[in-house]
Amino acid sequence: MRSLTKPAGCVPKIARTHPRCRDARSASVSVGGACPDRVGVLSSLLSFAFQSKIPSGSGLSTLNLPIPPDRKTVNSSDRESRLALVLFGGKRQTFGMSSGTIQLVQEAGSPYLPYRRALLSSAQIKELSTPKPWRAIVDAVICWAWIVAAMSLVAMRTSWWTVLIAIPVIGNRYYALFIIAHDGMHRRLFPTIKRNDFWTDVLALGPVGAITHINNRNHLTHHRHLATLEDPDRHKHACFNKADRPELLEFLSGFGSVWSSAKAVFLTRGRENLQKAPAGPTASSYTPRDLVILASWFAVLAGGLTWFIGWWAYPVLWLFPVYAFMFLGDNFRSFAEHSHPEGDQAADRHRLITYASNPLERMLVAPMNMNYHTAHHLWPSIPYYNLPTADRLMRQHPAAAGLEWRGSYFAYLLTYWSALPIAECKQAR
Ligand SMILES: [Zn+2]
Repeated sequence: MRSLTKPAGCVPKIARTHPRCRDARSASVSVGGACPDRVGVLSSLLSFAFQSKIPSGSGLSTLNLPIPPDRKTVNSSDRESRLALVLFGGKRQTFGMSSGTIQLVQEAGSPYLPYRRALLSSAQIKELSTPKPWRAIVDAVICWAWIVAAMSLVAMRTSWWTVLIAIPVIGNRYYALFIIAHDGMHRRLFPTIKRNDFWTDVLALGPVGAITHINNRNHLTHHRHLATLEDPDRHKHACFNKADRPELLEFLSGFGSVWSSAKAVFLTRGRENLQKAPAGPTASSYTPRDLVILASWFAVLAGGLTWFIGWWAYPVLWLFPVYAFMFLGDNFRSFAEHSHPEGDQAADRHRLITYASNPLERMLVAPMNMNYHTAHHLWPSIPYYNLPTADRLMRQHPAAAGLEWRGSYFAYLLTYWSALPIAECKQAR
């Protein structure tokens, strides 16, 4: 671990912002700011291991890095520690990042965070992050058109083969809707939170009993604590529960994760992670508006399917397709996009992976551009329809060579399967 000692002459104002004035658990590093020995800080933080260009911007840009006090022993009781790396924007400048900085960030469990500022300029991030509400609405309406068409097909001609056609269409198009709703959970569909949450709940989350302002906490905590023990989705991509082939099959079937996921999202609603979740307008109790949306969707789906098709239609044409194609698809995607066939301690150092994939895989496993997952994690403000552009731009930067792109989800699954059993994974539990 790094050793930071208090230099002489630390006044309270500086002590809040200077690493050598703070203890090792909570430091705020101001690079180029009002620091008594900023040259020393610069030289210690920014040197040679990671060459990177900081693009133009205006004013100061701040990159907040969470720093667990001890990478190997981090646990949920540890208080939050943060490092704010403040960089001057303005004139384009070149800097190198020292191995000491990389070590510091790796200790934080967030080795990818420096990429956030290096790979796209502030102007590019701002432009790509501008929401286009009409785009999400159109995509959502098209998804619902497919779902209604599939249900109507069964209603007009109830037969085993129409049911077999309808199930994947309904499940997969709901998965696409869920990915649109994922942007809603990040409050990126509409410019205002009220409108964003309303349309996310009405168009996509209400049908599966979820409400944005309640159920987004689990996901936002995942973003904040990826590659640490505090990530509530760790069970999806860590290898401790996929150390051999029976365990991997159990996970992929959903039996090994459906309870953990449902508990985190619906029962605890992120309460366990309240202190770890990013600050924001979230709540843990339902409002009358939420209950109306949930009850309306249940009445429309359960009542409508039962009325027009039969008593079996709600479980067969809604619950099962959502489980088989949305839940299991998202489960597999989350695993593939954050995992490696190696022990978790090593995998925690590089858990951001993008898949080029192919159209069939993208439709089944990662609809609505979720295969560009590294770009999403680096800049969650960029809506799903702009992720391909973000990915193309970040690939052009030399520093992107440190990130990982894979060709195929199922090829990776085969690679992981072939590597099992993994001894380090069993030792970790
Ligand atoms: Zn996300």
